[in-house]
Amino acid sequence: MKETDSITELKGIGPRKAEAFGKLGLFSIHDLLYHFPRKYQDYSKASRIIEARHGDCAALELKLKSDPRLARVRRGLDITTARAFDQSGEITLTWYNQPYRMKAVVAGECVYACGRVDRRHGVKMINPTIYRELPGILPVYPLCSGLSQKLMRDAVRAALAGCGEGIEESLPGAMRQKYGLIGLYDAVSGIHFPKSQEEIRAARQRLAFEDTLLFSLTLSMMQYSLPKRERPLKLEGTIGSFVRLLPFEPTNAQLKAMEEIRHDLSGGRLMNRLLQGDVGSGKTAVALYAMYAAMQNGRQAALMAPTEILAAQHYGTLCRVFGAENVAYLKGGMKKAEREAELARIAMGEAKAITGTHALLQGDVEFFDLGTVITDEQHRFGVKQRAAIGAKGGAADVLIMSATPIPRTLAMILYGDLSVSCIDELPPGRKPVITRLVPEDRRQDMYKFIEEQAKAGRQAYVVCPLVEGSDALEDVQGAVELYEELKKRLSVPVGLLHGQMPASAKEKAAEAFRRGETGVLVATTVIEVGVDVPNATIMAIENADRFGLAQLHQLRGRVGRGDKRSYCFLLSGDGGEAARQRLSALIKTGSGFEIAEADLMMRGPGEFLGKRQHGISEFAAASLAMDIGIMKEAKDAAEELLSDRQAMAEAAPLIRRAWGRLEAMEGEIARN
Ligand code: ADP
Ligand code: MG
Repeated sequence: MKETDSITELKGIGPRKAEAFGKLGLFSIHDLLYHFPRKYQDYSKASRIIEARHGDCAALELKLKSDPRLARVRRGLDITTARAFDQSGEITLTWYNQPYRMKAVVAGECVYACGRVDRRHGVKMINPTIYRELPGILPVYPLCSGLSQKLMRDAVRAALAGCGEGIEESLPGAMRQKYGLIGLYDAVSGIHFPKSQEEIRAARQRLAFEDTLLFSLTLSMMQYSLPKRERPLKLEGTIGSFVRLLPFEPTNAQLKAMEEIRHDLSGGRLMNRLLQGDVGSGKTAVALYAMYAAMQNGRQAALMAPTEILAAQHYGTLCRVFGAENVAYLKGGMKKAEREAELARIAMGEAKAITGTHALLQGDVEFFDLGTVITDEQHRFGVKQRAAIGAKGGAADVLIMSATPIPRTLAMILYGDLSVSCIDELPPGRKPVITRLVPEDRRQDMYKFIEEQAKAGRQAYVVCPLVEGSDALEDVQGAVELYEELKKRLSVPVGLLHGQMPASAKEKAAEAFRRGETGVLVATTVIEVGVDVPNATIMAIENADRFGLAQLHQLRGRVGRGDKRSYCFLLSGDGGEAARQRLSALIKTGSGFEIAEADLMMRGPGEFLGKRQHGISEFAAASLAMDIGIMKEAKDAAEELLSDRQAMAEAAPLIRRAWGRLEAMEGEIARN
C-alpha cells in the first residue's frame, strides 16, 4: 500500500464510508495519516471510583452488579443504566439513547469503563465506553456525520499498518540528529497512537519542526529583494482627496497607516507591507487608499478576499467609493458570458479596482496594468497564493491585511523584515461587546433574549463549528439541525448560511441578513472573516470550546459595530473546567493582541502558519517556550539547508512535501 492510494484500499472502507471521509477532505492514505487527533483521552492507568473527581475522564476497573436496564423516559429519550462497583465504592453507568448498550455488559463481568465522571447526583459515568482491556491513550479526531471515533481509529491504524515503514523520511539524518528529532514514521504513529505523554511530545516536536521548516523554506524559496519601482507614483494630495470619498472621518490610526503606505508607494522600491488591525478597526478604508493611489496613477488595483461573502461585500464598498463603472468583480461559478465580460473590462483597463476570491488567480485573468495587490485576511491564504498573485502583477505593490494579529515575536520569526502597519484604535463610538459564558441550562433564556432583540429590530448570528452534526457522542449540534429547531422555536425569520451551500444560495442568505430581512442567521464559520452588518448585536457561538481564541475574537468582532449595545454568548456544553478557563480570556479582554498572545500560549503556533482551524487545538497546545524554541531552530535549519547544495539534494522529499502541502492548502481554500 502506498501513501497516494485511495482510502478505499483499506479493508472495510467502501464508497459510502469513503464519502464520509471525503467530507473531512480525507481521500488518500496520506490524508488519513496526517489527520491528527484533536486531543487525547488518557486511559493508560485504571483509577478507583473514589479517586475520580467530578468532570475527570477516567478509566475505572469495575465489576457489573446487575444487567443493564432500559428506561423509555419519553419519545426520543431512553436511558440505559447499569450498576457497577470496585473496592472503593459503587457507580451508575448511564447511556442516553444507546439502547444497544443493553448487550454491552452482563452482571458479574469485569470491564474497564472509560468516560467522564459525573458526581452531581450520585456517582455516574455518562456514555462510557466499555473495554475488556485497558485501552491506553486514545486519540480523539475531528469527525463529521457518518464517522465515529472507532471507525476513524481503525482506519488510521490500518493505514499505518499498511503503509508501514514505507512512510518516506523527509528530514536529512544529520538534521534530525542535530536537533534531536525522531523519525517521521515514529512521529506519525506516535501522534496517533502514543504509548505515553512523552511520545506525544516527541511526535509533536518533530511534526511542528517540520511544519515550520517547510514554511520557512517556502518563504525563502520565493524571497527576493524588493525590485526597484519602474515608474514612480505621483501621490501629492491623494490622502486628502481620497478621504473626501469616505462617508466617515478616518481615525488617526487609519491616517497614519495611509501615510505609511503613501511613503512606500512614492519610494524607489516596491511595497511589501502587512496591515494589522483588530476586527472592526477599519482596515478596508486603508486598503482602499492603496487602491486609490494606484488608480490615480492610471494603474489597476486588486483586492482579494478569502470567501465570496467577503468579496461581495468589498464589491459593494468599492462601487460606493469609486463608482461601479470603475469596478470589476470575479467570483467562482459565474456564467460564462458574464465572466468573459468582466475579464474583458479587466484586460482593457476599463475596470481599475478589481475584487474577487481566489478566482482572481486563475490563469485566464489578464490585467491591463496591475499596480497594487491587496489580500484581505491574509492568514487564510497560503503562501502559494501570495506567490501566484505576485506573479500576476509582475512588479506590483503588495499589501497584506490581517485581523488575527500575529504576535510580534512570531511575526519576526516568520516574516523577517516585512514592514508592518498597525491600526491600534477603533472608530469612535464603539462599545465593548458584553461577553458571557452561557451554561446549558440557560440556553432557553438566551433564545428568548435573541428573540426579543430581533423583535426590537436588531439581528443575531448563531454560529456552529461544523456543517452537519458530527458523531452523536461528540455532542455537536449541526448548523442545519439548529436552523430547523430555531425556525420552529423563534417567531422571527431565521436564515441559514454554511460553506457547503451553493454560492448563489450563500450570497442570497448573506444579502437577506444584510438587508435585515432575517433577524437570526444560523451559520458556520463562513461568516468568520469580515462580514459587516452594523445592525447585528448578538453573536451566539455553539461549542465555543472547539474554536481558537483568535477565531472567537474574530467572530465576536462581527457585532458591536453600530451604536447599540452588543453581546457575545459562548456556549460550550460540557467542555469542562479547562474550556471555561480558556474562554475566560475572551471575557477579560477585548484586545486582539492580548488574545492572540493568549491563544499562542494555549494552542501553539499552528493556527498562525495557516493550517486548518479545527482540529489542532489541544494537540498543538504545548508550552509557548517549547514552540517558539522549535520554530527558531527550524528557521535556522531552513537557512542552513538553503546554503548547502548537498544538503538540499538530500532534502528533496522535504521540498516536494512543501509544495504538496501548499497545494493542499489551496484545495482547502477552494472548498471554503
Ligand atoms: P476591518 O478592519 O475588520 O476590516 P472594516 O474595514 O470592515 O473593519 O470596518 C468596519 C466598519 O467600520 C465598517 O462598517 C466601516 O464602514 C466602519 N468604519 C471604518 N472606519 C471608520 C471610521 N473612521 N469612522 C467610522 N466608521 C468607520
Ligand atoms: Mg475586514
